[in-house]
Amino acid sequence: MVTKAEKKHYDKLAQIGCVLCKHLGYGETPAHIHHIRKLGMKRSNADVIPLCSEHHLGKTGVHGLGRKAFESTYGLTEDDLLLTYCS
Ligand SMILES: [Zn+2]
Ligand SMILES: [Zn+2]
Repeated sequence: MVTKAEKKHYDKLAQIGCVLCKHLGYGETPAHIHHIRKLGMKRSNADVIPLCSEHHLGKTGVHGLGRKAFESTYGLTEDDLLLTYCS
């Protein structure tokens, strides 16, 4: 279930474009919404970041690499991206 407020928030984030592409200097890339999952925590409205299909589901993406490899590959965490680009 996505509430109206969430939908609005997601639309706004999607318009930012992929935050990893941004970080890497690739410019604006159309993005999906990725939910950051935290152990033992409820999913909240704020814990989503926009990622392009490659950086989301591709081999070099957060799901393809897994969180640990993602962090060592790019030298940052999903939370860093959230705080830097989405707040
Ligand atoms: Zn990207
Ligand atoms: Zn995802």
